[in-house]
Amino acid sequence: MTIRNGGCLCGKVRYSLLAAPQSVVMCHCHHCQKASGGSFSVNLLVKEEGYQQQQGQLKCFTDTGDSGLPSYRYFCSDCGSPVFTKATNLPGIYLVKAGTLDDSNGLTPQAEIYARHAAEWHVPLSNTVCFTDAPSA
Ligand SMILES: [Zn+2]
Ligand SMILES: [Zn+2]
Repeated sequence: MTIRNGGCLCGKVRYSLLAAPQSVVMCHCHHCQKASGGSFSVNLLVKEEGYQQQQGQLKCFTDTGDSGLPSYRYFCSDCGSPVFTKATNLPGIYLVKAGTLDDSNGLTPQAEIYARHAAEWHVPLSNTVCFTDAPSA
């Protein structure tokens, strides 16, 4: 059962989420800043089988996370919108970029990670757990 739909800016990539995300995490790391062009990324942790690509071509950039392990950043090959990331230390999980959802109402971050890289003007959300680095670090 589809619970949410999303896609890239140009509309060629479309996907459905079949389950509610396990959690919603804001990431302030430098790589998310570079990849998104914003000051942080907002990621839905979705099980692999809960993500269903409907159409479009994704390209993959193999990044190296702070852990030193590869992370795979998937983006639309036409417009460049980041769609999801797979991290080596989160097997079976897609980190779906919240900004690509058609409607993200009702999704509030539970955690903020890499807070030491947060923009100096950023005020942590009042009800999030804030991690200086990654939760496992
Ligand atoms: Zn696109
Ligand atoms: Zn990040």
